[in-house]
Amino acid sequence: MTGSNHQLLAQENDVFATCARIKYFDVVLDHGKGAVLTDVEGNHYLDLLASASATNTGHAHPTVVKAIQDQAAKLTQYTPAYFANSTTAKLAKRLAAIAPMSGPVEVAWGNSGSDANDAIIKFARAYTGRQYIVSFTGAYHGSTYGSLTLSGVSLNMTRKLGPLLPGVVKVPFPSPWEQEADESDEHFVNRYFKAFKEPFETYLPADEVAVIVIEAIQGDGGIAMMPPAFMQKIYDFAKEHGILFAVDEVNQGMGRTGKWWSIQNFPGIEPDMISTAKSLASGLPLSAVIGRKAIMESLGAPANVYTTAGNPVTSAAALATIDVIEKEHLLARSQKLGAKAKAYFEAAKEKYPFIGGVRMYGLDGGIDIVNPVTGAPDEEATTKLIYRVFELGAIIISLRGNILRFQPPLVITEEQLDQVFKIFDQAFAELAAGKL
Ligand code: PLP
Repeated sequence: MTGSNHQLLAQENDVFATCARIKYFDVVLDHGKGAVLTDVEGNHYLDLLASASATNTGHAHPTVVKAIQDQAAKLTQYTPAYFANSTTAKLAKRLAAIAPMSGPVEVAWGNSGSDANDAIIKFARAYTGRQYIVSFTGAYHGSTYGSLTLSGVSLNMTRKLGPLLPGVVKVPFPSPWEQEADESDEHFVNRYFKAFKEPFETYLPADEVAVIVIEAIQGDGGIAMMPPAFMQKIYDFAKEHGILFAVDEVNQGMGRTGKWWSIQNFPGIEPDMISTAKSLASGLPLSAVIGRKAIMESLGAPANVYTTAGNPVTSAAALATIDVIEKEHLLARSQKLGAKAKAYFEAAKEKYPFIGGVRMYGLDGGIDIVNPVTGAPDEEATTKLIYRVFELGAIIISLRGNILRFQPPLVITEEQLDQVFKIFDQAFAELAAGKL
């Protein structure tokens, strides 16, 4: 790979959040099967991105494909604004059964993770009668006006777009690399909880806040888990002040972390609402907000309606996706293979000082590439690695410029995973030897 291509990738990363322009590799995909993608020239790639965690069941899973075909031949579309359909009704029941909250829940449909997060804002405001929303720096919640206002991952997301949605207050997220080398976990959590409370003590009346929206594990923010003790503190704070607690599960849900929902990695935390999309229907455009019944009943009929939301074909794909996750034990599989991947990258970290950190929660990982001397993020080395891994037959991208995003389809086989490790062995060794 030539230097000029590295340069090109770096430039494209700079405009990451303007999005439509980003393209990592000069590849036109033709088809996919399981964890393998094939381009129009017949080249095969192991997919470590899963369409940004949207194909947890892998590409063209036969059960999902058949469900789509059967439903398309039966009823392809009818807007839920006027008629229910049996497939989407069945899906609502299945989602209620796996919801991470107790008590009766209801589901609201959409077409994307972005619109689901907008819906969370609507339901929270309508139910509480309060106007303020709290979200976190480093978060990515989507591209519609509401969801991009909630986000805090890149200036390019909001440049030229203001004024944004009023009433959204951002608080700092305790990302792992913000912890000082000699700082105890307790001090770190207390420091960030103090920063969290600051707006409430100065200008933000807690009893006027409708909802706190979080990613329990920030995806685009670097596969960074919120420290459980910090989560408990902000959850208790929310309960104390009648503030709703909502979790964006668009990236991290549907089995990615080895649980149905990432929030289930935090015992005792019961969200009032969650949003899901991406892998919900194995990548087909379907989103849902699952929330406590009383909250979901707070909006009148036309307030959150999209003609193609809750579409029967995407709903059939979602039912089949849930079936596949259950029948193929993909939650356990994510945990088991995730542990294997964690062990691999942690061993690599011991060997190569340019690996500054490894986080892995199921098949859901972030690997920090840093300058071995200063420990500073090394975007150039990350870019070189990404291209070398691509040449060797696997597709991976970066987050924040220097974090390898490891999110393969959960159906990846052990043999394929071993092949992935061999590819990284070679790429890491070449980087260490100054050959890239
Ligand atoms: N929320 C999270 C955590 C995401 O990662 C994304 C997409 O990357 C979204 C919301 C937006 O979803 P969509 O692109 O389907 O609108």
